[in-house]
Amino acid sequence: MTQNAEIIIKNSILLTMDANLTIYEPGAIAIQGDQILAVGLEADICQHYTSGYSIDCQGKVLMPGLINAHTHAAMTLLRGLADDLRLDVWLMGYMMPVERQFVSPDFVRLGTRLACAEMIRSGVTCFADMYYFEDDVAQATAEAGLRAVCAQTVLKFPGPDARDYEEALDKTRIYIKKWLGHELIIPAVGPHSPYTCTQEILQSAASIAREYDVPLLIHLSETHQEVENSRKEHGMPVIPYVKKQHLFEAKVLAAHCVHVDAGEIKTLLHHKVGVAHNPSSNLKLASGFAPISNMLDVGLNVGIGTDGPASNNDLDMFEEIRLAAFISKSTSGDPTSLPAPVALTMATRMGADALQIGNLTGSLEAGKRADLIIVDNSRVHNSPRFKREPEAIFSQLVYATQATDVTDVMVNGKWLMRDHQLLTLNEEELLSAASDYARQIDLFLLEREHSVLSKLIAIGGASEEESFEVQVKVSLDDPESVVSEIKQHGLEVLHHRHYHEFDTYFSFTDASQGYLRYREDEAIGPNDQISSVRYRLTLLGPTREDNFPSDALLSRSRFIAPANHSLRFYREYFKPAHETIIEKHRMRWRILYHGLEFFINLDRLDNPALGHFLEVKSRTWSRKDAEHKALVARELIRSLGISKETSLSQDYIEIVNPPDSQ
Ligand SMILES: [Zn+2]
Repeated sequence: MTQNAEIIIKNSILLTMDANLTIYEPGAIAIQGDQILAVGLEADICQHYTSGYSIDCQGKVLMPGLINAHTHAAMTLLRGLADDLRLDVWLMGYMMPVERQFVSPDFVRLGTRLACAEMIRSGVTCFADMYYFEDDVAQATAEAGLRAVCAQTVLKFPGPDARDYEEALDKTRIYIKKWLGHELIIPAVGPHSPYTCTQEILQSAASIAREYDVPLLIHLSETHQEVENSRKEHGMPVIPYVKKQHLFEAKVLAAHCVHVDAGEIKTLLHHKVGVAHNPSSNLKLASGFAPISNMLDVGLNVGIGTDGPASNNDLDMFEEIRLAAFISKSTSGDPTSLPAPVALTMATRMGADALQIGNLTGSLEAGKRADLIIVDNSRVHNSPRFKREPEAIFSQLVYATQATDVTDVMVNGKWLMRDHQLLTLNEEELLSAASDYARQIDLFLLEREHSVLSKLIAIGGASEEESFEVQVKVSLDDPESVVSEIKQHGLEVLHHRHYHEFDTYFSFTDASQGYLRYREDEAIGPNDQISSVRYRLTLLGPTREDNFPSDALLSRSRFIAPANHSLRFYREYFKPAHETIIEKHRMRWRILYHGLEFFINLDRLDNPALGHFLEVKSRTWSRKDAEHKALVARELIRSLGISKETSLSQDYIEIVNPPDSQ
């Protein structure tokens, strides 16, 4: 008695990738609708099943489709945009500003289609995605016919698709409800990372994931710096911190987990967290080496991902599988580490488990969805084949097979590629539309890169502020007498502080860009101890605006912002031509003089050792006020007993590097 099957695929080396890594040769599979009816030796399958549609694999490999455990598919449109940068500069300096400008539903659909074309060609049948406008990612993916876990991104700052995180969370709910139960798309929530989310966002995201029983996707412990910052800010590394936010009460797929210790690996295991290992991305961004063997040893589900095509820069899973094996061997000094069958399992069955959808896909077993690929393992770079040990086929696939060896791809019982021909996507159209975006993004960055100010604004580092600053600066031989003058003079002192300041001035080849000053201000308390530290970034105009007849100096348009990034970040982002470092102690008084507010700064320059300076400053909003204040400032200086010739300067950078000397 034979049963009817919709499709029978036979004459293959059939790798089931089941728990026993069963291989059937010659093997066959019977498929009905979206389901696998049976897999086995061809003789057995043909004895039990008949079909009007049978396909001869001609001895090629038939195996489950690969599972890309972590990507940002739509970023195909940003591939090659900015490379050879550190993660923070790459992400905050380039990716996020460009995304804020360009990412739209249209961008996301096109980028996702392009990614789907690339993934289908390289044998991927399922992927885990995190991006903006995830509804459009899901739509484009479903139309292309691929299976995917699609997570809507949530961030603490405005994203391309949400003004704030509340809006992002609301959109996530609507999005999840729309796609729940879809045959190909598993909706999910994607709080980007602990460092781009607040505690409240992490908690809300976990509760949404629990409420709808959907996966939660997140980047965790990607860089050493991220872990160190977490220790500083929260008193603990990343994994215990997110655990404390109840994150692991959801079904979590965590990308990277590069910097995790044995205790944290146990925590991940205890909460059944799936891990997505991204070899190329970690190598390219020098994030470090994830302890994958240790994770596998304890039984953690580790999948393999490409990460976004802007940090890889492709979606070639065969390359990732190979790298995963190589990295594990090299970092452990043990060539037996992460052998080929394990590496391939990570990219198939274990990957599906990590995505929390192992019940649906990941292996060729009766009852699972028909997600499979056919791979030609007989081409020049992959021949000959040894049959002495059946497992040699895994070595062939991991160490020699190329993505272009994939000839056919089926997802959910439907062909997406037959004999290298894509059936659901038009590559020519996609490539032409992608080139249009590249042209627009090039123009946007060209425009931005020529101005320090617009680069500053692009990273949210400044708000434009038109103001005038009046400044009188004189060098002093006897600072003590000035201090006693200030005390005795009956000046109304509103505020007094002592700072230890470290200033780094960036200057640029184009002098009209002015100077960018990164200032570390240590406030010194009464016991000579540091009471607080603040970091500020100031863009100083290129030259003095004017010298009033009164010898006061007027400058205009300074841009001041808290410095949220490290000095290294700004150095790598702004690429200054020259840097000057100035260290000084500053006594600062905020005073009222003739009813006007002034700052009196008494500075001792330690590096370079230039002695003492007195500075009287005030900020005004109109030029007329500035002229008046300049006169008063001169009078204030004289009233402090200083009568000698003044030496004026816009800032210390000009004392160290006078403009004429440059
Ligand atoms: Zn990522």
